[in-house]
Amino acid sequence: MSVNWIKVEKKNYMFTVRRQPIVIARGDGTRVWDVDDKEYLDFTAGWAVNNLGHCHPAITEEITNQAKTLVQTSNQFYTLPQLRLAEILVESSVLDKVFFGNSGAEALEGVCKLAKKYGKINRDGAYEIITAFNSFHGRTQAMVAATGQPLYQESFKPLIPGFVHVPYNDVDAIIDATSDKTAAVLLEPVQGEGGVNVPHGTYLSRVKEWCEKQGILFILDEVQTGMGRLGELFGYQIFDVEPDAIALGKALGGGAPIGAFMSKDECMVLEPGDHGSTFGGNALSCAAAFGSTRYIIDNNIPARAKEMGAILMEGLNNLRSKFNFISDIRGMGLLIAVEFDNEISADILSKSNKEGLLLNAVKPNAIRIMPPLTISSLEINQGLECLESVFKTV
Ligand code: PLP
Repeated sequence: MSVNWIKVEKKNYMFTVRRQPIVIARGDGTRVWDVDDKEYLDFTAGWAVNNLGHCHPAITEEITNQAKTLVQTSNQFYTLPQLRLAEILVESSVLDKVFFGNSGAEALEGVCKLAKKYGKINRDGAYEIITAFNSFHGRTQAMVAATGQPLYQESFKPLIPGFVHVPYNDVDAIIDATSDKTAAVLLEPVQGEGGVNVPHGTYLSRVKEWCEKQGILFILDEVQTGMGRLGELFGYQIFDVEPDAIALGKALGGGAPIGAFMSKDECMVLEPGDHGSTFGGNALSCAAAFGSTRYIIDNNIPARAKEMGAILMEGLNNLRSKFNFISDIRGMGLLIAVEFDNEISADILSKSNKEGLLLNAVKPNAIRIMPPLTISSLEINQGLECLESVFKTV
């Protein structure tokens, strides 16, 4: 008799996330298989993590070789994977220095510490960071405070002070919220978890201009948008702005847990003793991240995201013309949301699971589509056919 793994989870695991009733056993490219060997097309990619799909050899070979060589030492010493990864990230971005941690939230913790110290030194003790409503920056205590969604904050008050929230895509709101206490502005190039909200083309460049004028840092959270998802390696390239600092995570490790923050030399105010991490920059995750990043760059995977994103968007717009309960389709590259005029995401997910298509419910009335960037047009069409047959039953 096979083990009832969902029962095992219920008995032993803290219930903090509503999972789909699927136990995934293995993956390959855009597909995963559950413990009963049912096949699924994966349009979630580990929450925008598996940009090269599941078990891509560029990543698994690095992990395998590194696992046989050196898994972890501490930052008391240098290691090759960490330095190779630092070099490729600095060479392919507008930032000058990097620090590695273990997750997106941890990367943002680091970049916020950098901003606070920058304010202390350069703006007479300024410490506030302006972030946007509907943003998502992670689940640590400071990042719950940074995230502009009251839903995630209510149970954890009093919140860590120092974060000011303004409407997204509104430059004047940032101008009005800036005071002599402001050290930085922190924004996502496209809001992911907040519902895939794409700003106006000039929003980020106007915010950057304001920050420069005020002498405050312009920081981008590229945890979800970085590593090619929007159609360029980094989201800031699409909006033609140069951030002072960025946070990375998710797809950076191609599935291995790693986060990073990067900054320009001019604002790298951290000194020995200010920040650190036992596992941050460990050899195994850095090798995976190096393999993934090298492949993404060498094979122009961001351009593929743009091309496949256009095909997916066209197919979704076709569906919109057939199903009038679809109220909006928005996104960029392969980060797309389909919004409905009703709270039907849960129903859509459970029906699409049965059809063999994995989706993410980003809101009760919106699904998020974020497949591997290596997806083929054939797989996109298969996914669209599944979606169409699900929509017919709604
Ligand atoms: N920032 C953004 C934009 C994210 O989308 C997320 C996760 O969804 C995070 C930060 C937090 O990353 P992690 O879950 O790795 O801590």
